[in-house]
Amino acid sequence: MALLTKTKYIHFLQCPKMLWLDVHKPEEAVIPPETRQKLDNGNAAGDLAMGYFGKYLEATTYKEDGKLDFAAMLQKTKEWIAEGQETVCEAAFSAYGMYCAADILHKTESAYDLYEVKNTVCMHEVFLPDVAFQRYVIESAGVKIGKCYVLHTRAGKEDSLDAQERFVAEDVTAAVRALRRGMFERVQNARAVAGGEEPQIPCGEQCEYPYGCFYKEYCQKYKL
Ligand code: SF4
Repeated sequence: MALLTKTKYIHFLQCPKMLWLDVHKPEEAVIPPETRQKLDNGNAAGDLAMGYFGKYLEATTYKEDGKLDFAAMLQKTKEWIAEGQETVCEAAFSAYGMYCAADILHKTESAYDLYEVKNTVCMHEVFLPDVAFQRYVIESAGVKIGKCYVLHTRAGKEDSLDAQERFVAEDVTAAVRALRRGMFERVQNARAVAGGEEPQIPCGEQCEYPYGCFYKEYCQKYKL
């Protein structure tokens, strides 16, 4: 079965059918142009944020066909963590059928702190399950995480090209720790949905919140 990625897990939390469609009918996703623009802006912000601690290593690796080379990213991350490198970006981990690439891992005396980059001027609760999943995968892979942060844009500094000036780190460790309870069951449920029959879920509020679903056209076409 396909690896359970962070995106698939977050989609599962919003609507199990969204995860199922990600796995079985991804070609049905329709991404609106404004959302595509937001995603591109987010990627640019992520690139800038990599320099938040100065020098860094980035695990991102592509195959010849342009797709991400997960195996190479996992291997690079493993080596760099074993060497005790201070800052590793797009650090890839896999354990028990789960996969994630952390935006930034920064070494402290006793562990690595986890930073999730968000291109917004404030912290939102919907970011927490995302960070909690990453922490769960990374610790399941045997790497100790100390604190967890959301690195979001500082109000009034949206256009700054200086990472320290542009971003502010918000400590979400306690909230993320609270989401550890029940994680095993949620992951098991997500994997069961991914490997099962198409869930029969009617359209509803979950199609818009917390994120607009890319499968609305599909679900409206095949209304229950
Ligand atoms: S459109 Fe609504 S029902 Fe369909 S997958 Fe998305 S969230 Fe679920």
